[in-house]
Amino acid sequence: MRDSASQNQAFQADVAKLLHLMVHSVYSDKDVFLREILSNAADACEKLRYEALANPALAPQPFAVRISIDADSKTIAVEDNGIGMTHQELAEHLGTIARSGTRAFIERLGESVGEGAEAGEKLDLIGQFGIGFYSAFMVAKRADVFSRRAGSGEAFRWSSEGQGTFSIEPATLEEAPAPGTRVVLHLNEGSQEYLEPGRIEQIVREHSSALTVPIDVIEKNGAQPRRLTDGAALWMKPKSAIEEKDYVDFYQSLGGIFDQPELTVHWHAEGRQDYTVLAFVPGSRPFDLFDPARPSRAKLYVKHVLIKDDAEILPRWMRFVRLVVDSADLPLNVSRETIQESPVFAAIKKAVTNRLLQELTKLAETDKEKFAKVWDHFGSVLKEGLYEDPEKRDALFALARFATSSHPAGGRSLKDYVAELRPNQTAIYYLLGEDLDRLRASPQLEGFAARGIEVLLLPDPVDAFWVATSAGFEGKPFKSVTQGAADLTAVPLEEPAKTGEAEPAAPSAALASLYALMKQVLGEAVEDVRASGRLSSSPACLVASERGPDRRLERLLAEGGRLNFTSKPVLEINPNHPLIKALAARIALPDKGKLEDIIWLLFDEARVIEGEKPADASHFAARLTKVLLDAATVQAS
Ligand code: ADP
Repeated sequence: MRDSASQNQAFQADVAKLLHLMVHSVYSDKDVFLREILSNAADACEKLRYEALANPALAPQPFAVRISIDADSKTIAVEDNGIGMTHQELAEHLGTIARSGTRAFIERLGESVGEGAEAGEKLDLIGQFGIGFYSAFMVAKRADVFSRRAGSGEAFRWSSEGQGTFSIEPATLEEAPAPGTRVVLHLNEGSQEYLEPGRIEQIVREHSSALTVPIDVIEKNGAQPRRLTDGAALWMKPKSAIEEKDYVDFYQSLGGIFDQPELTVHWHAEGRQDYTVLAFVPGSRPFDLFDPARPSRAKLYVKHVLIKDDAEILPRWMRFVRLVVDSADLPLNVSRETIQESPVFAAIKKAVTNRLLQELTKLAETDKEKFAKVWDHFGSVLKEGLYEDPEKRDALFALARFATSSHPAGGRSLKDYVAELRPNQTAIYYLLGEDLDRLRASPQLEGFAARGIEVLLLPDPVDAFWVATSAGFEGKPFKSVTQGAADLTAVPLEEPAKTGEAEPAAPSAALASLYALMKQVLGEAVEDVRASGRLSSSPACLVASERGPDRRLERLLAEGGRLNFTSKPVLEINPNHPLIKALAARIALPDKGKLEDIIWLLFDEARVIEGEKPADASHFAARLTKVLLDAATVQAS
């Protein structure tokens, strides 16, 4: 309500927390506040440039951003002649954070501000998020924002000390740009350095020279404005006129990013379509990469006018790329909504995706180290393409790198894998799970290791889907090591003497009775109990039956509500394990109660190794105590 507008309003809880962290953190690089405010100012100009396409009267003047330093009042002001904000927009944009994942981010930031956190870690987090306007309160004890929305006859002043509340009241038309926004920062005691023009100039040149609106500075009251940056679009300059540093600055200005791009690609396409692309693969993983609500980070310009900053140019599995596309062919009068349907846009999308895929392939071939970092950060996103985009599967298979049982640190390609198949090995084996450490330690791998068979270790949820839907690689099908009976006998043992594993023989009568007893004791909990070809040092493991899906896939489907039954696992037993031999030797003894406890414990142990809970926690605890008590008494006596 306008009447109560001049009263203090509370910031949204998330903003209040963010502000608190901002003011109290020992965050060292305070300079970023200026970059954030300047990029908001430039964004505002780009927005008005777009609105003026439909209504040219709105933007008669050349766009510019002006920084004014006033040493007497100890303020610096940043003024733009952009879109401006209405009363309601001031309250919304400078009182809340609408970005998804904000709460999770603030919690993580809060933790890292606590004791023992490295400054670098914080920087990393803040950089991933982009702190925006609120960073002003790192240097200001008060901020006043005067704003007049383009086309409006009213101006307002938003004001806050960054302590939990802000106020908005009407301002005179002289106080605000016509139209646009002036942000006035009343510098705090520790931030007087920003009153030195040299300091401001250095920050602008270092961090904001790539903005698409020129920046001027007025060094003191009454001085003439002096131009610091020209506002020309970086991507339109010839490559020869651009230095590496310019690219990095531009990348960082694309929304408060602090890291260095791992890969920068800049090209101009001519021919059927005329467009320019500047693309960056970030040097770290954005905090919200897996948030389904995360908007695209691709800016679409038409003839240098920003049309959309979240254009759907790249497929979802390339969503980590920061992108600018500037088209000379798309019509300027087309609306944001319909532009996505234009055939020109469709052709650009396709060409840009293909080109970026080629660039990644080139990087993988020419700079393994760099590519390893890219894969480390974004491999789990690229793998989504294996499932969602069968057309691109071959290209993505060529990029994919895996940790495997024989190369646990990762970096293994499918080509490498297939080049080193063991004699008679006909499939590419994989193991699905939730984390790499657990996968590396899985008993399911033992029999494969004994035969020198390499197994892909697949820790991402999407892995379960692409292995299930793709036909294979170079004629070799993908096969789960935890599904069905593992008939590995065709592949020779590597060193039978060393691994101690013998080729499985027909079970002895005692073993056969033990399996029968196990089946009877476990009843409905298992589909079958049988001797395993895949174990060598563990006593037992669980696998999926021939008919069911892989157990990990089944769990994922069940969690996602896409499956309303779970199939029963098969308990596989290592007949050469001393525990199993000892159990088989006791099968004829009368005290079956103890055997039953041990059988259940074996079953639960196999579940735990898989990352599941024991079938029944209280029974499990009671049985374990009994068995431990037994062991302790035997030792004591
Ligand atoms: P971000 O820029 O990442 O969205 P900010 O906290 O920096 O986050 O700004 C929040 C919003 O406030 C912006 O998205 C924009 O809508 C509005 N805003 C900030 N500065 C200006 C400005 N100078 N002119 C117009 N709107 C602005």
